[in-house]
Amino acid sequence: MAIQKSEGIILRKQDLRETSLILNIYTRDFGKIKGIVRGVRGSRAQGLAVGGGSLEVFAHDEIVFYERKQSDIYTVSQCDLLDFFYPIRGSLEKLAYASYIVELVDSVTALGDKNIEVFDLLLNSLKLLSGESSSRRVTRIFEIKLLHLLGLMPTLELCASCGLRVDASARFSFRHGGLICGACLASDNQARPILQGTVKFIEHIRTSPFEKVARVKVASEVGRELEGILRKFLDFHIERRLKTLEFLKEIEK
Ligand SMILES: [Zn+2]
Repeated sequence: MAIQKSEGIILRKQDLRETSLILNIYTRDFGKIKGIVRGVRGSRAQGLAVGGGSLEVFAHDEIVFYERKQSDIYTVSQCDLLDFFYPIRGSLEKLAYASYIVELVDSVTALGDKNIEVFDLLLNSLKLLSGESSSRRVTRIFEIKLLHLLGLMPTLELCASCGLRVDASARFSFRHGGLICGACLASDNQARPILQGTVKFIEHIRTSPFEKVARVKVASEVGRELEGILRKFLDFHIERRLKTLEFLKEIEK
């Protein structure tokens, strides 16, 4: 592979030996990649072509990288900062949500699975978090849209077990991954009641463009229920528990 260039957002940063870093980057044109950046740490840092702050988690960068022999880790040769999202880094609350968002993307995506919509969702969510919007609301919208883009969020119009149309008596089943009808309740006695407002909100977010839903107001009981359902739903789909989630729980108390 020749030298490649793409916009990317840093998902994860790990130290490697004395002077190098391994980054997980969600790129616009290649999906998630792993890249090594050499000579950026320690007293002998060589001042590689990296803009200030561009190696920090959730920085939005222009990245130049190329393939290494017999390795799926790329060499990152240039990393220029496009947006550091200063307002996020200046607020403990915003920082917690942004860290959770990038960790979630890192957990549910595979290396090399290109999805421009996921990249745009991630970038737009970070931009929104930088502004005046409620961090909580941005995060709920992000979760619903992400689950939808990855094909994990089922339609809420049909029973996830038998496929028939559901009515207002439907319950949410984590086992089946969606609403189940009265006739199918016996197949999951853990299924929980769900507010019609929550079903409507999820459907609205799922089917509307991001710019439109960013300003949608949500009733507090719907917000709370949604938070509980999404949290458990994501737990179900993500094997390892997210580090940032514990911190977020503290913030959301
Ligand atoms: Zn059914």
